[in-house]
Amino acid sequence: MEAYTGSGWLLTKLEQLVNWGRKRSPWPLPYGTACCGIELMCALASGYDMARFGAERPSFSPRQADVLIEAGTITKKMAPILRRIYDQMAEPKWVIAMGACACSGGVFRTYSTLQGIDLVIPVDVYVPGCPPRPEGLLYALLKIMDKIDTEHPLRGEIAGLVEGK
Ligand code: SF4
Repeated sequence: MEAYTGSGWLLTKLEQLVNWGRKRSPWPLPYGTACCGIELMCALASGYDMARFGAERPSFSPRQADVLIEAGTITKKMAPILRRIYDQMAEPKWVIAMGACACSGGVFRTYSTLQGIDLVIPVDVYVPGCPPRPEGLLYALLKIMDKIDTEHPLRGEIAGLVEGK
């Protein structure tokens, strides 16, 4: 009888199936604002070929993307726009901060530069470097896939409600 309490076998397998499909088809939303955007383009081009990881469909609509890749400097004036784009993405969604500027403002310790995009949106993986190499972004993408694999498909509060927490 114990086998039928809690997360049953069928539900567990369904979760794994959803996560497996989701992790094999991330739809990135490229948000390049500065030089890091060039490295992002390199990662998408044939030399590095992000398509090898199922991410060959960059979306320029937030409603049709689940991995926001923010590559480049964000000014304080742009911060509300970045937040709005993040809000427009459907759940579940993940964020990669690509490069020193996105992670911490980088060398631009100025009044007008946002000192890290995590001040306005949650970040799942940080890619260090100025500029970061395309390999760094691909590694971050693999880390996102690892996260998807271990998460409840409904994520966050909804998952808590389903599990009665
Ligand atoms: S981290 Fe370096 S390469 Fe990337 S946007 Fe900032 S200054 Fe440019």
